[in-house]
Amino acid sequence: MLLNYKLIPLQRSNLSHHSILGGIIRKFDLNFNKHSIFETFVFRIFRNKFVIRNSLELKKDIRALSLEELKAVFVENGDQAFRAKQVYEWLWKKSAITFDEMTNLSKSTRELLDKHFVINAVKVDDMQISKDRTIKNAFKLYDSNIVEGVLIPSTTRMTACISSQVGCSLTCKFCATGRLERLRNLNADEIYDQVVLIKNQAEEKYQTPLTNIVYMGMGEPLLNYKNVLDSVQKITSPEGLNMSPQRITISTAGVSKMIKKLGDDGVKFNLALSLHAANDAKRNHIMPINESNSLEALAEALKYFYEKTGTRVTYEYIAFKDFNDSLEDAQDLAKFCKHIPCKVNIIEYNPIDDGEFQQTTAERLDAFAKYLESKNIIVNVRRSRGKDIDAACGQLANKNKEGFVNRKMKKVI
Ligand code: SF4
Repeated sequence: MLLNYKLIPLQRSNLSHHSILGGIIRKFDLNFNKHSIFETFVFRIFRNKFVIRNSLELKKDIRALSLEELKAVFVENGDQAFRAKQVYEWLWKKSAITFDEMTNLSKSTRELLDKHFVINAVKVDDMQISKDRTIKNAFKLYDSNIVEGVLIPSTTRMTACISSQVGCSLTCKFCATGRLERLRNLNADEIYDQVVLIKNQAEEKYQTPLTNIVYMGMGEPLLNYKNVLDSVQKITSPEGLNMSPQRITISTAGVSKMIKKLGDDGVKFNLALSLHAANDAKRNHIMPINESNSLEALAEALKYFYEKTGTRVTYEYIAFKDFNDSLEDAQDLAKFCKHIPCKVNIIEYNPIDDGEFQQTTAERLDAFAKYLESKNIIVNVRRSRGKDIDAACGQLANKNKEGFVNRKMKKVI
């Protein structure tokens, strides 16, 4: 069957370089087979920019619009600009997932929104609760991809650990996520949704508000820079969750260029570096990103970040048995700590299936921590949480309750 599609740009939508091709295509009434590859291609390109009208209609995610763009939509449809503020509040402050929930809008306004937009809300697809009360969620995205997010309750904190990418491209050897192919970046609203859903769990299951957010789930946040920063903006803004940026920590495997950019952007949240070895040969072995972002390059970027923000950086250090847990390793780490004010979190390792590393002993962990303390370094030793449900650090790999990797995610090694 041949269909006649017209590609119609959304009014005042934020058109990027795709708009040039969009303009060209709009000049013609294109005929192409419903099942053609070209059609799929066109649909992909225009998914976020156009409403395609005919027998099929592809709607834009309303949360991709800024408040100003939303106002323009209302004005151009002969409605009042203040409606945009109401809708924006429903979307971000009240986390509405359908237009029907927006009860202070007239039925016709809700119908108009429904006709042109969708809300691609993230949903909890599966949830597992650990013996230590940690909750691991499999979150389903609009395209059926799955990412994981964890609620970690402690006596003093309720922490959400969230994902920034579907899979990860960095292949750190000790990490289960690193064995999954990176399929795509998460949008800012998909990152935001994870926080809202975990926040609701904290309140409903443990009657405690969410206190902290760490970007330490699946993916490298600094390789999805814009969306990650946009999500932080929403989480911290009064129109969103109004949380303090000091309660948020973004963790990176070490992308020097983007650490400097964080400094240039004057961010107010905390930065953690997944260091895990303060010796280039060892770090190259477990984190291939170190080959292009050496410890020297990282130190320089961190100094720049500290000069610009004045924020103390946290070094995450997983102790692996007989690999990076000796006193010589502690000396290397102490030397690296001299670059800028910092603190060190030593993390107990959680072995993953067929991984080459093992957990170090309590004695070696203590000796390592004591050495750092003797050099006046602030050290926390973090015991793992949620190990029984594969929710602990480095274990997120979209495994379901039966232990199988979700079929949407491919193993790369
Ligand atoms: S540790 Fe982080 S950066 Fe490395 S593979 Fe895992 S998710 Fe990616």
